[in-house]
Amino acid sequence: MKILFFSSKSYDQQFFSASNKPFGFDLKFTEVPLNMGTAVLAGGYEAVCVFVNDIVNEEVVKALAAQGVKLIALRCAGYNNVDLKTAAASGIKVVRVPAYSPYSVAEHTIAMILTLNRKTHRAYNRVKEGNFALNGLMGFDLHGKTVGLIGLGKIGLVTARILNGFGCKILGYDIAKPEEADRIGIEFSGLDNLYNQSDIISLHCPLTPDTYHLIRKETIAKMKKGVMLINTSRGALIDTKAVIEALKQEHISYLGVDVYEEEADLFFEDLSGRVIQDDVFMRLLSFNNVLITGHQAFFTSNALQNIADITLQNIQEFESAKGLKNEVLLS
Ligand code: NAD
Repeated sequence: MKILFFSSKSYDQQFFSASNKPFGFDLKFTEVPLNMGTAVLAGGYEAVCVFVNDIVNEEVVKALAAQGVKLIALRCAGYNNVDLKTAAASGIKVVRVPAYSPYSVAEHTIAMILTLNRKTHRAYNRVKEGNFALNGLMGFDLHGKTVGLIGLGKIGLVTARILNGFGCKILGYDIAKPEEADRIGIEFSGLDNLYNQSDIISLHCPLTPDTYHLIRKETIAKMKKGVMLINTSRGALIDTKAVIEALKQEHISYLGVDVYEEEADLFFEDLSGRVIQDDVFMRLLSFNNVLITGHQAFFTSNALQNIADITLQNIQEFESAKGLKNEVLLS
């Protein structure tokens, strides 16, 4: 079976080529992202493998179907970029990797909280320049602080377990209360109470029509002044302009984001030699209490290994016409 990998990097090639040994699929890698201009490359391939910022909208799915593609294999958990309705109507199956390492994302979330609190990003630069003054570096004890987690799925629950170790009080909100919540010590809460009470708020829900701009002017107004906001889920959960305004008003005192609503034009590329044209992003970068990473929360060797293994297993299930364990179905 021939599979074309869009948006692939050297690390994808390394992990997928190694994992492919027992499967023996014919893998072709291109750095080119999938969009309407590149869908034509899929001619002759039964499956395409795509990542978070590939465009898999209605017209792209139709173009893939016209090329004879039968399977879209996402090598990620989120599937908000895929038009599932058109895929179903075109007879294309969609599979994903629902869980590869919740630890990778949860641990990156904690790294962001600790960096913003203890200002290690600023301390690192100061000490390099021989500046050992502590002014401006004061943090707070995480012990005893209230952390609000929105989304108590795999990543939210691992984050809660780690925060327990710090002695935090944990409030959690989800559309469905998970069984483990009580055992982990999460106080299940309504959203308004979570906004009101939390010193730190971290987002772990998927991007859906319901969660688009969940964090906006009205919801920020319900948060404590001085709150820390962390988003390692999807950029469009946050209305970036509203958050910038709240940073300017010092309502939000710390912001950590691994994702950004317009990240498709920026992330995963070396743009250090170019002028970045996104003024909203550049404004975000200008705050020294904002920490941005370029969608790297998943990026551990353990996660990449699992992503490669599970994606190839998904493709094998499709080839052998077994039930697709990780199929993404229209809800
Ligand atoms: P999951 O499916 O295990 O959990 C998501 C949880 O969100 C579920 O419990 C679900 O009930 C809940 N939810 C759904 N709609 C909600 C709503 N309106 N309000 C509150 N909760 C809601 O997913 P996961 O593995 O924990 O991943 C969470 C998100 O993290 C993914 O959707 C993805 O966008 C993101 N992610 C980011 C990275 C990264 O590298 N930054 C990597 C993997 C996943």
